[in-house]
Amino acid sequence: MDGTVAYIGLGSNLDDPAAQVARALDELAAIDGLEVTACSRLYHNPPMGPQDQPDYINAVARVLTRLPAEVLLDELLAIEQAHGRVRGGEHWGPRTLDLDLLVYGEAVIETGRLTVPHPGLAERAFVLYPLQEIEPGLRIPRLGALAELCRRCPRDGLRPLDPVA
Ligand code: ATP
Ligand code: CA
Ligand code: CA
Ligand code: CA
Repeated sequence: MDGTVAYIGLGSNLDDPAAQVARALDELAAIDGLEVTACSRLYHNPPMGPQDQPDYINAVARVLTRLPAEVLLDELLAIEQAHGRVRGGEHWGPRTLDLDLLVYGEAVIETGRLTVPHPGLAERAFVLYPLQEIEPGLRIPRLGALAELCRRCPRDGLRPLDPVA
C-alpha cells in the first residue's frame, strides 16, 4: 500500500490495561486505509501528572496509512470512545485508552485540534524508548535524531512488561 508512515502512542491504566492496548492494536489494523506494520513490546510506566492513579501500560505502533492526519486523529478518538474513555476529568488523569498521533511522515502540523509531532514526545521516556525499539534510526521533524532524544531522556521507571502474557 502507498501511504504515509506514522507512529501512534498507545496508553492505558484502567480496566486491564494490557488487554485495552492489545485490543486497540487490532482495532487500528481494522481501519480502512491503514496497516499496522510494527509494534513495540508493552511497557510498564509510572503515571505522568497526578500520582494517585494506577501505573500505565504503554506501547508504540508504526502504521502505513492513506488517511490524512486529521482523519486519522478522528479514527483514534473514535477508538478511545469505544473503549469507554471518559473525558473532562483532571488533566493527565486515569484513562481506559489514550491514542496519540506522535509522528506523521515528515509533516509539521499545528491546527486547533492537532499538533504533530506530538508536543510531549521529546520529554517522554514511555514514547521515546518504545519508538526506538521499532525505528532506531528515526529522524523526527523539528526534533532531530530519535537516538539523541533518547540519550537526553532518562528511562525513569519505564520497563518492558514481563513476557508472561
Ligand atoms: P497529551 O496530549 O499531553 O498526551 P492527553 O493525551 O491526556 O495529553 P487528550 O485529552 O487525550 O490529551 O487529548 C486532548 C486533545 O488533544 C484531543 O482531543 C486532540 O484534539 C488534541 N491533540 C492535539 N494533537 C494531538 C496529537 N498529536 N495526537 C492526539 N491528540 C492530539
Ligand atoms: Ca486496515
Ligand atoms: Ca497522551
Ligand atoms: Ca491523547
